[in-house]
Order: sequence, then structure tokens, then C-alpha cells
Amino acid sequence: KSGFISIIGRPNVGKSTFLNRVIGQKIAIMSDKPQTTRNKIQGVLTLSDAQMVFIDTPGIHKPKHKLGDFMMKVAQNTLKEVDLVLFMVNAEEGFGRGEEFILEKFQTINTPVFLVINKIDQVHPDELLQIIELYKEKYAFQEIVPISALEGNNVERLLEQIKAIL
Ligand code: GDP
Ligand code: MG
Repeated sequence: KSGFISIIGRPNVGKSTFLNRVIGQKIAIMSDKPQTTRNKIQGVLTLSDAQMVFIDTPGIHKPKHKLGDFMMKVAQNTLKEVDLVLFMVNAEEGFGRGEEFILEKFQTINTPVFLVINKIDQVHPDELLQIIELYKEKYAFQEIVPISALEGNNVERLLEQIKAIL
């Protein structure tokens, strides 16, 4: 089993922290270069029964000019070509225009999308339930997985769920 997994999410939601945890500090930091229009491999996780290639997909945002428009196209094509999209959000932050915009893009692809709600160590369980309900109404995610990338809660479970769709 192997596959390409695109992680998308706003800055600071915890993408690098997640990769550091699952792949190891060295690799994630080594490839943490400034964003380009191209997708970059952030790390490869090799398990006994599966291989996961995690790629960063910059450019998913509301385009303000022509270059932004081009980058959006590149990003959107990537989403169509990967095996899975992980859409990571911060449990501490509300749902905004940025999230709405990305969810609209998901309507144009057939790739499965997992919603990964990170930083659950920072919110009350009731708050988390509200976030889950809100996102459920917005898009038919294949899975909704609350995690704490920092503390490791549910990260193993997420990897199992990823493995299941490869
Ligand atoms: P990125 O920009 O999406 O790659 O986000 P980073 O991985 O750089 O994380 C941004 C900040 O959020 C850092 O200070 C992390 O330590 C913090 N962070 C990441 N995951 C968690 C989490 O699960 N819980 C908490 N409390 N902080 C987190
Ligand atoms: Mg990062």
C-alpha cells in the first residue's frame, strides 16, 4: 500500500508539528523551505505495510492577482492527483472565509478529504463537538479526525485511517 497525501491548511495550524511527529524532526525541518508554486515532498513515512508520501500544497487561497490565480490552478490540479487530502484546521480558531473558500474547491475534486482538527488539547470537549457539527454541515468529509499533533492524541488512529484508504 502506498499513496500521495496532500496536507493543506492555513499557516500555524500545525502541519509541520504533525509531520515531525509521524516522520521525525530531521526530515520535516530539512525540507521546510519557503513556499514555491510547485508542490514539495515534505516527508515519506515507511511502515511495514504502507508507505505515505506527504506533500505540501501551497496556493490554496483566494487569489488576489494573476500569479495567485495560476498558483491556485496548480494547487487544484494537485488535489485531483493525490490519493488523499488532509485538510487541517485549528480547533482554537473559528470557521472563516478562508475555510469556506477551500471547501468550495473540494467540491470540484473526487479525491477523498479527511478533516483533521488539530490542537484539541486547547479546547473543551463541548467546543470540539460544535466544531465537528459545523464542518459536517459544510462538506461530506470521508473522515473527521480530532488530534493533538503536539501531544500525540489520536495521531496513530489517523495513520490507521489513512492506511485504510490507500
Ligand atoms: P504549520 O505552519 O501549519 O506548519 O504549523 P506548525 O507546525 O509550525 O505549528 C504552529 C504552532 O502551533 C507551533 O507553535 C506548534 O508548537 C503549535 N502546535 C502545533 N500543533 C499543536 C497542538 O496539537 N497543540 C498545541 N497546543 N499547539 C500545537
Ligand atoms: Mg510549517
